[in-house]
Amino acid sequence: MSTLRARSACDPASERPPLPTPRHTSCAAALALTLLALSATAQQPRTKPVTQAEVDKITRDAILIDTHDDVTSKTVTGYDIAKPNKTGMTDLPRMKGYLGAEFFAVYVGANYVEGNHSANRALEMIDTVKTDIIAAHPNDFVFATTAADVERAHKDHKIAALMGIEGGHAIEDSLRLLRDYYALGVRYMTLTHFNTNNWADSQGDIDDPKITHHNGLTPFGKQVVLEMNRLGMMVDISHTADPTFWAALETSTAPIIASHSGCRAISSYTRNMTDEMIKALAAKGGVVQINFGCDFLSQRYFDNEKTALGDMRPKYMAAMKLADPDARDAAMAALKADSYAKLPPATLAEVVAQIDHAVKIGGIDHVGIGTDFDGVGCVPPELDSYNKFPALTRALLEKGYTATDIKKIYGGNILRVMRAVEQRAAELKNTPAIEATIGPKPAATE
Ligand SMILES: [Zn+2]
Repeated sequence: MSTLRARSACDPASERPPLPTPRHTSCAAALALTLLALSATAQQPRTKPVTQAEVDKITRDAILIDTHDDVTSKTVTGYDIAKPNKTGMTDLPRMKGYLGAEFFAVYVGANYVEGNHSANRALEMIDTVKTDIIAAHPNDFVFATTAADVERAHKDHKIAALMGIEGGHAIEDSLRLLRDYYALGVRYMTLTHFNTNNWADSQGDIDDPKITHHNGLTPFGKQVVLEMNRLGMMVDISHTADPTFWAALETSTAPIIASHSGCRAISSYTRNMTDEMIKALAAKGGVVQINFGCDFLSQRYFDNEKTALGDMRPKYMAAMKLADPDARDAAMAALKADSYAKLPPATLAEVVAQIDHAVKIGGIDHVGIGTDFDGVGCVPPELDSYNKFPALTRALLEKGYTATDIKKIYGGNILRVMRAVEQRAAELKNTPAIEATIGPKPAATE
């Protein structure tokens, strides 16, 4: 639903001439009609010029919450988040004053499944958030796990640092490990990464006939979702296959999220959500957090990426592994320039179009921000870090979004979901821990 403010003679704050209202129509009825008309047409471009003071105030007052940033894949190998960085997307100088809360990705790649190192990796990633980010910079970051923590941090002018696991295989098929991660502070988990695991199907390999799929979630997978509800950990469907989304939505007794996805109606990348999925997610109180990756944003980029660029990932990985920071920066800058020359990146306008579409389909209360910074190779240059958010604020204002709308998109909506998930866990607090195992229960031993 649009929250565009309807100005009419019924509105005492109105500075504009009243809108014509039919005779004998009550103010309440007229207002309802106007709201109906506005919600049908969604945001209208603004006629008043947008001032920089207005942009700055809204950006400052909003609690900007990014639900997905992969800088942890760099901090875990020694990257200093406090130093300005020329080629990455995330560093403290560009976060400070703009970002209210970060969900740092506890990213566990599919490669850790082999040899059973997934939990080891997850624990190392949790440690890099706690040691290399929060403990190393106590004046700037504060450990947070709840909506109230996020609001407190904003008041204290600190960045709330939260964690989300990326890749459900991190629990190594054990609800005990899931509970351990919750206890360590993890507050969401994507049910899969690019790989289908033993209980949930991934978008990444759903078309691969060599992989055994589960039609979404296995019975154990549903118990994972229910245990997440009981604990108060958000169920995240980014990276999952469509049947997994539907099974998770049906199973969960709390709202669910997509921490870094977009609209498939705009870019057909299947990591984006269909309109039907966005509607269903919204109907259950959830939120889709818009990914800033160029292929998520733009059909043109998605269609041409493979032919124009090939697989950039190994090249970026090789550049990132260079020990000398200057050499690393130079290699990354060269890669970026080369890829921009071959295929122009997506734009700020395309981020606005994604947000606008998601709002039209799901409603203003069900859209947020999940940048995927430092997890994707290409983002719009006008929006390549947190200090660029004033540009997005301006673009949204120009499109007709109000300060209230923008605050919801930037953080209000995900805060509401966090509260709902916390509330659900509070309701379930006397429910015993789920004991399900994926196979036969191991025999008790001394
Ligand atoms: Zn991801």
